[in-house]
Amino acid sequence: MSAIYNRVALIGLGLIAGSMAHGMRRAGLVHEIVGTARSAETRATAREIGLCDRVVDTAAEAVQDADLVVLAVPVGAMADVAQDIAPHLKPGCTVTDVGSVKRAVIDAVSPHIPEGVHFIPGHPLAGTEHSGPRSGFAELFDNRWCLLVPVEGSDPAAVAQLRAFWQGLGANVEEMEPDHHDLVLAVTSHAPHLIAYTMVGVADDLRRVTDSEVVKYSAAGFRDFTRIAASDPTMWRDVFLNNKDATLEILGRFTEELFALQRAIRMGDGDHLFDYFTRTRAIRKGIIEAGQDTEAPDFGRTKVR
Ligand code: NAP
Repeated sequence: MSAIYNRVALIGLGLIAGSMAHGMRRAGLVHEIVGTARSAETRATAREIGLCDRVVDTAAEAVQDADLVVLAVPVGAMADVAQDIAPHLKPGCTVTDVGSVKRAVIDAVSPHIPEGVHFIPGHPLAGTEHSGPRSGFAELFDNRWCLLVPVEGSDPAAVAQLRAFWQGLGANVEEMEPDHHDLVLAVTSHAPHLIAYTMVGVADDLRRVTDSEVVKYSAAGFRDFTRIAASDPTMWRDVFLNNKDATLEILGRFTEELFALQRAIRMGDGDHLFDYFTRTRAIRKGIIEAGQDTEAPDFGRTKVR
């Protein structure tokens, strides 16, 4: 594939940016990858493993002459990074992000974007519970969705170029409106993470009562929850603080359904439980048919990693 951008700047060098770097190299998508991270430790690791062509010490330096700038830091850090890089952006370049929440990121970043720079928010729907510069891998985005959330007045040519870039990384690309994005992700990702965190927290409390049997006899249900609940605390704190309304809306509905199931158990209403579980099983089948997971009982991740 021929290069889509000349120079790409990665701000933040964790799972997502690292996977993008590997993916860009795999497909020959860009001529030069420049990266930076907040800590000297992460920058040193990135240099050691050759994650980028160049690792520089500041975001301002990283964006010099970059045609695409990717903000790959936690959602709560986006505004400060945008403010830092703003005076150094090349006119006509594209700034994108990979944050898991879109409305809050748009509100935080847009005011800093200078005239003549394209800001096209994005979100790859791909991840693992690992983080940091060593956690990335080229296949992360293969056959996953990347949602682009262009702001009003976005340049169609710049959007098309970013779309081609994500397709080059292996993703399927669609455009979505920011509030709709945040609601969809609250259902598919944010609320489930909170539920997993809660379940593991409850089990941890119980562990003290059952003398570590919870861990020893850990069965598939609980193990799967622990995988999700091992996700990065900073990232997930920022997701909930920045997608508050949609997450609370979904958790409200979740609580109602949970009470209904709780009541069915109490009343011995087996039909209710059976019908409910039959419906949810069909959803799982749909996800596998859509190619978004495999039959493997571990979210299909071990095959990739
Ligand atoms: P990660 O592996 O934890 O890496 C985060 C990077 O951001 C690190 O290089 C870190 O630098 C830097 N950083 C952290 N706090 C910062 C701050 N206050 N100012 C400047 N830089 C800071 O995270 P990730 O999983 O790649 O996530 C990055 C973004 O992608 C997040 O917005 C997240 O919502 C989004 N996302 C994540 C997933 C997922 O499953 N992980 C999926 C889709 C989208 P140091 O290492 O030096 O601390």
